[in-house]
Amino acid sequence: MSLRPFNFSAGPAALPEEVLRQVAGEMLDWQGSGMSVMEMSHRGAEFTSIATAAEADLRELLQVPANFRILFMQGGGLAENAIVPMNLSKGGKVDFVVSGSWSKKSAEEAKRYADAAVAASSSDSKFTTLPALSTWQLRRDAAYVHLCSNETIDGVEFHELPDLKALGCDAPLVIDCSSHQLSRSIDWSRVGLAFGGAQKNIGPAGLTLVFVREDLLGHAMSICPSAFDFKVVAEAKSMYNTPPTFGIYVAGLVFQWLKRFSYAGKTGVAAIEQRNIDKAQLLYAALDASAMFENRVAVDCRSRMNIPFYLSGKFNTETLTQAFLTGAKERQLLQLKGHKSVGGMRASIYNAMPLEGVQALVAYLKDFEAQYG
Ligand code: PMP
Repeated sequence: MSLRPFNFSAGPAALPEEVLRQVAGEMLDWQGSGMSVMEMSHRGAEFTSIATAAEADLRELLQVPANFRILFMQGGGLAENAIVPMNLSKGGKVDFVVSGSWSKKSAEEAKRYADAAVAASSSDSKFTTLPALSTWQLRRDAAYVHLCSNETIDGVEFHELPDLKALGCDAPLVIDCSSHQLSRSIDWSRVGLAFGGAQKNIGPAGLTLVFVREDLLGHAMSICPSAFDFKVVAEAKSMYNTPPTFGIYVAGLVFQWLKRFSYAGKTGVAAIEQRNIDKAQLLYAALDASAMFENRVAVDCRSRMNIPFYLSGKFNTETLTQAFLTGAKERQLLQLKGHKSVGGMRASIYNAMPLEGVQALVAYLKDFEAQYG
């Protein structure tokens, strides 16, 4: 078992210890090349082999269909909020489903490039629910529909992606899957484009993954920078400009780790998905059973990755919240502070978080309640 603390950061987040050790071991000399990966030409044989394997492993893990291109980009999720409308909207209509802070931000940014409208929102419930499908007002001629499939701050997750065709909409679905990509499988038949920063489930900050259906390439607005034109990036195999090489290398090791990963008789993404389900159930059960802590999200759309929680009722004071966080750190449970916009606590339990980490947190919740409750 690991001797490192359990790290509940929302991102940049914990990486598998095995991967960090491998990175440390290869830091000065990658596989006899005499170079660190950071020192290699991105066009040389060594790095080309790293990038090719990373892409192939990711494609295999997520069963990405042949008509989707995988792009390694930069700028994170926030840059994609501009890059996607510049590539897909042609300056026309785009519809947003707002289910939390990140999709709200995406809709606002898109207004700079397109006629962006909110098709549905769960702001009335303070983002503790998902907007019911029956309320979605999709425009027939929208270029795409955007949603955030896992809201990192609000802790709300689409457990199933909507079938837009069944809603009478032919537009492609764009998903911001930053904070749960690779935590479960993706139904590609329902998606036109998916994007996410790597710094949660995949690797270091600085790398952004984009999965884009081929027919969506080649429609960029003239103001779109070439380095952000999906077609240009795809044709250059993500090497139009110098890609974030170290990030791609670490991500590649995470993909290999996930391919080896087994749990409950399963392997790969199916195994990590099962472990993520088990971890989330354990933590939500403890919160629901507690008279001192609460999670406010409706049961059917609770995130498996990001679990915001609060001290409830009379216990919800700044002093007790601070005491909780200080005590957590003493027990080697790190970075449990909630996002500044919502306060409270948040446990992000991404792929690299072992079951033991959640068990340790649950034990702490019980001890804290016994002491202060
Ligand atoms: N979307 C989601 C769902 C996120 O969680 C984040 C970052 N926490 C972003 C977008 C913004 O990503 P970045 O900071 O990589 O630009």
